[in-house]
Amino acid sequence: MTAQRKTGPRSDRDSRDVESNPVPSPEALPGVVVRAYGKFFTVQLADGRELLSTVKGVLKRQRRGTDLVAVGDRVLVRDVGEGEGRIESVEPRTRTLSRLARHTNDVEQIILANPDQALFLFAVRDPEPHLRLLDRFLVMAESRNLPAIIGVNKMDLDIAAHDDEPSLARSLFSGYRAIYPVYYLSAKTGQGITELRQALNGKITAVAGPSGVGKSSLLNLLDPTRDRAVGAISAATGKGRHTTTATVLHRIPGETQTFVADTPGIRALSLQGVEADELDQLFPEMRPFLGQCRYADCSHVSEPGCAVQAAVDAGEIRQERYESYVSLRRGDLPDEG
Ligand code: GDP
Ligand code: ZN
Repeated sequence: MTAQRKTGPRSDRDSRDVESNPVPSPEALPGVVVRAYGKFFTVQLADGRELLSTVKGVLKRQRRGTDLVAVGDRVLVRDVGEGEGRIESVEPRTRTLSRLARHTNDVEQIILANPDQALFLFAVRDPEPHLRLLDRFLVMAESRNLPAIIGVNKMDLDIAAHDDEPSLARSLFSGYRAIYPVYYLSAKTGQGITELRQALNGKITAVAGPSGVGKSSLLNLLDPTRDRAVGAISAATGKGRHTTTATVLHRIPGETQTFVADTPGIRALSLQGVEADELDQLFPEMRPFLGQCRYADCSHVSEPGCAVQAAVDAGEIRQERYESYVSLRRGDLPDEG
């Protein structure tokens, strides 16, 4: 995030941003950037209309060190006819999900502007849930102060046929429920979709998860117009479907401005900017025990008198979560299979 870069030639950027937005023309309309294609941006207006837009020249000289316009930005756009628009101003971002561009520590690439929360999606099986990856996602969200929710799809495939049988989903995910909201879902039967809609209502939610967990199926259920919209814009730009790492924002039909962002780029964010000695803070269930270890700089891996390890032994912190902590602390390479 921008706040992490305290030094460098762009330290004057924030003050420059304040004076940046030129006065938009009175006929400019509010909208949200839902897709980005290089210099072109699809802006969705409040009435659902989409304008394929470029950025007004004067804006280009303003923001430096960050993407000028990104998916999730709230903008004012002028309708110039034939389905095209000109972005005249960009609202200040509440926060950004971004990463530093390769080969530079000066420019950030924004994966999503103005995210309110993140939804990490897994399946109860097919594919088998990769909980280490979930823990990495959760730590990434914590490090960016992004509230996280967990979705467990394909509940129709859960092994429990009767209520008194053990449920695979519950054995895997019930430990997370004390820490994060968990939604048990099925795109096939519609289980949990009403509750999920409520959790998404009025927000911009970044969604990430391994392929095959049913993300597309769920998005189609939430926004039945989705596939049509993607096809239409592909024709307009003469390009194929959006690339696999591009963020796409889907408006969920309803009275409020609800958006779900398909953010494959989250996987590449990894733990950029997270220091080893702050990792314990990013596991919420460890926080009550921090500061109680014998050594102030305890890494909670092998030191004697460690309050965190004692809490694991006492069953107050789940063993699997602790193992994720140790593995991340050691800097193990991500295993995202
Ligand atoms: P994505 O890669 O995450 O976008 O996953 P898809 O939406 O393409 O779904 C992958 C496969 O899982 C497809 O064959 C879907 O039909 C299937 N699928 C998706 N959701 C469910 C579900 O809730 N239950 C079951 N049984 N299958 C599902
Ligand atoms: Zn400790």
